[in-house]
Amino acid sequence: MKLCIAAFSFSLLSNSFQTCTSFTTPDTSLISRTSSSERLTINYNIEVNNLESNNKLRNRIYKSTSLNVATLRNPSTTQDVVIDDIVPSPKSYLDEGFVFGLEGSGLSRPKGKKTNVVVEGDQLETRPYQVAMVGVTFFVHATIALFALNDLSVINQGNLLLTTLQAVATIASSWVIADLGSGILHWSVDNYGNGRTPVMGNIIAAFQGHHSAPRTITERAFCNNVHKLCIPFGIPTIALIRLLAGSSHPLVAVFFTVFCSLEILSQEFHKWSHMPKAKTPSFANKIMKLGLTIDRSPHALHHTAPYEGNYCIVSGLCNKLLDSSGFFRKMEHMIYKINGIESNSWKLDPVLKEKTLGGVYKLNP
Ligand SMILES: [Zn+2]
Ligand SMILES: [Zn+2]
Repeated sequence: MKLCIAAFSFSLLSNSFQTCTSFTTPDTSLISRTSSSERLTINYNIEVNNLESNNKLRNRIYKSTSLNVATLRNPSTTQDVVIDDIVPSPKSYLDEGFVFGLEGSGLSRPKGKKTNVVVEGDQLETRPYQVAMVGVTFFVHATIALFALNDLSVINQGNLLLTTLQAVATIASSWVIADLGSGILHWSVDNYGNGRTPVMGNIIAAFQGHHSAPRTITERAFCNNVHKLCIPFGIPTIALIRLLAGSSHPLVAVFFTVFCSLEILSQEFHKWSHMPKAKTPSFANKIMKLGLTIDRSPHALHHTAPYEGNYCIVSGLCNKLLDSSGFFRKMEHMIYKINGIESNSWKLDPVLKEKTLGGVYKLNP
């Protein structure tokens, strides 16, 4: 006969352990101590198999938080208890292999229209350093672009029409490529790395955490929302490009200042796509309608697990091409062949992994 005893709670006091003779303590090397906690409460689900021969109990204990073995208090039973399986603690978003939204990750998507900051230390309030970062970045980008346009005018010997046409064509092509870039960036940070990854850690945690709390972005003011992207697409990147291109190739600087600015702004475009029309600024609704920024319905397609498509968030123009061509699955397969690392979308959907490994790359072929 099989008995199920659920939600068996033990109180644990760090300095008042009462040794339980009938309780076989688990291997302490498997267990991490939560040093900051004086008192811990552990919830156990205990499944008891009553074996006829020796009345021995077998218990499966699922642990919901870190366990300090030396603080177990004697449970109210005199029967032998054997711990034969300990499931590791829920991982932190900073840990290797952590996947937001994966069952047992410890983070679940809040029900209803709630906001939830999932990354420790992150705040919805705008801080002065964020305003400074964003302000200085856009000022320097604009200055470099203006100097480059001036160089272009000099090269064109003051021909204003030619300079304008070249500038408009460069900006338009940069807008399209920035959409492609936003898709590749979004795919890479959604699927690889974690909060501890150098340089990109905060961005990775923010993007992956966004799947667990998609409404949170709508509560962020502009600088709070975009400042993280000022690190990879900020002043050092543009200054280096301008230096390498020199004044003889001003269109390179124009292209990349627009590109980097749009990558930073992509988070604001992304935010608008999560906001109801009535709460979105009217100019944003207008440029969204023109197709210059990502619309609500195409981005909503991304927000279904395993988050395997519709990654582009500047205009969304490149989404169809990338998804129907199987571009991202090919990349994932290639990365897997090189280093054996699986994408998070594979971890969330084993069927997707199977299909990709079988060479079926296109989404909904
Ligand atoms: Zn995503
Ligand atoms: Zn989103």
